[in-house]
Amino acid sequence: MVDVLVIGGGNAALCAALMAREAGASVLLLESAPREWRGGNSQHTRNLRCMHDAPQDVLSDAYPEEEFWQDLLKVTGGATNEKLARLTIRASSSCRDWMRKHGVRFQPSLAGTLHLSRTNAFFMGGGKALVNAYYRSAENLGVQIRYNAPVDSLEIRDGQFVAARIGNERIEAKACVLAAGGFESNREWLREAWGQNERGEWPADNFLIRGTRFNQGVLIKHMMDQGADIIGDPTQAHCVAIDARAPLYDGGIVTRVDAVSLGVMLNREAKRFYDEGEDFWPKRYAIWGRLVALQPGQIGYCIIDSKAIGRFMPPVFPGVTAQTLPELARKLQLDEAVFMKTMNDYNAACRVATFDHTVLDDCHTENLSPPKTHWARPIDTAPFYGYALRPGITFTYLGLRINEKAQVHFNGVPSENLFVAGEMMAGNVLGRGYTAGVGMSIGTAFGRIAGTQAAAAARVGSEHAAA
Ligand SMILES: Cc1cc2nc3c(=O)[nH]c(=O)nc-3n(C[C@H](O)[C@H](O)[C@H](O)COP(=O)(O)OP(=O)(O)OC[C@H]3O[C@@H](n4cnc5c(N)ncnc54)[C@H](O)[C@@H]3O)c2cc1C
Repeated sequence: MVDVLVIGGGNAALCAALMAREAGASVLLLESAPREWRGGNSQHTRNLRCMHDAPQDVLSDAYPEEEFWQDLLKVTGGATNEKLARLTIRASSSCRDWMRKHGVRFQPSLAGTLHLSRTNAFFMGGGKALVNAYYRSAENLGVQIRYNAPVDSLEIRDGQFVAARIGNERIEAKACVLAAGGFESNREWLREAWGQNERGEWPADNFLIRGTRFNQGVLIKHMMDQGADIIGDPTQAHCVAIDARAPLYDGGIVTRVDAVSLGVMLNREAKRFYDEGEDFWPKRYAIWGRLVALQPGQIGYCIIDSKAIGRFMPPVFPGVTAQTLPELARKLQLDEAVFMKTMNDYNAACRVATFDHTVLDDCHTENLSPPKTHWARPIDTAPFYGYALRPGITFTYLGLRINEKAQVHFNGVPSENLFVAGEMMAGNVLGRGYTAGVGMSIGTAFGRIAGTQAAAAARVGSEHAAA
């Protein structure tokens, strides 16, 4: 029988597998995806948020624990467990040397709309390279890896893990780490969670999934049925407005359109619906998915002019281009008269002073509802561009309640040999909202804890068996 069974094949699972193996345990990792699609959402990531008290290799200045904690407190509105959050934050300061040891490389952040050089360490080659490095290291260390291995249920006796099942196959282990992601790829579950709106629409039917198709939430549902303690709200998720032409799954980072704060955003009725210049884009990009989800038909249109070009990371699909605004309205199939009224009202309301996209500048609208608080400049210089945007789900927050040892709980009692990491428990730290890079901080911190704890639990299990 193997010592530690790790279920999942993304960052959290790999961190757990590597730590358990380093602690001397025999480890089997079960990844539901085939090899070429391995790595879950982690393969799409770019960076991890790191606490540091002074400049460090790819990180500038300092990002102390208290500031990281205040950022987390702000974005979650208090829906976070301080003990687990601080544990994540502290772990983020010391994990990079360990990551390097397993082949992960870092690079300074690129300039663009996301100003993250102080807070986030970027992976050289992105999450794909990180995942590949971890798999390579795991193989070298003797971790057994199985692809096409979707676990559908667990055998749990008195709160203790006994075995996992893939169809009729039964796999026993002394301890287990669950790291099988959220339920964001499960469209039925998203539909049920979001329900029907006042217009009779099922908003989730128009959602796109930014990452893997393999995070179906099978084990979250199974653990709910088994009576595990659950945390989080199924409608809470990280949700970004992405290019409506993105594929249903795995569009990844390149489908994001980071131009909203440089222009205006319209709904299907060609009307504005929110302040595009409320705050810096890194602090606002994650609210636009939900804002678009609340609009008729769950679609929005980002409109910019040529002045915006070169000021944001170009998305993979080019925008719809026109030489005049009426032509753009027609090409986007928006009501031309309403579109022109919205654009003329906006252009007339702009009070342009000193445009500076790197600060909260003094270009704003007057007597316009909703206002545009910063970076408001008339959209008047051809060519004009339009991007249709849809809600893109990154990951869900519903998961299993844990303690600082990453133990799964049943009626408040921690399991001795069942642990959980990554998206399956991120809701303990991130009950709501998001701050860039924290998903990987949580998965790395708790993946490593879960792996260490599982190896220790397996040792205790062996000692009991020998006694
Ligand atoms: C486009 C995109 C960009 C992102 N960028 C960033 C970023 O830059 N920084 C950041 O911090 N976060 C980012 N995130 C969020 C980040 O991806 C997650 O927080 C993190 O990867 C979660 O890691 P995980 O190991 O828990 O889940 P995943 O990496 O999703 O891994 C889950 C794994 O479980 C497997 N699995 C699922 N069900 C089963 C089953 N029943 N049996 C066996 N295996 C199963 C899946 O195949 C997958 O391998 C991004 C997400 C997306 C989609």
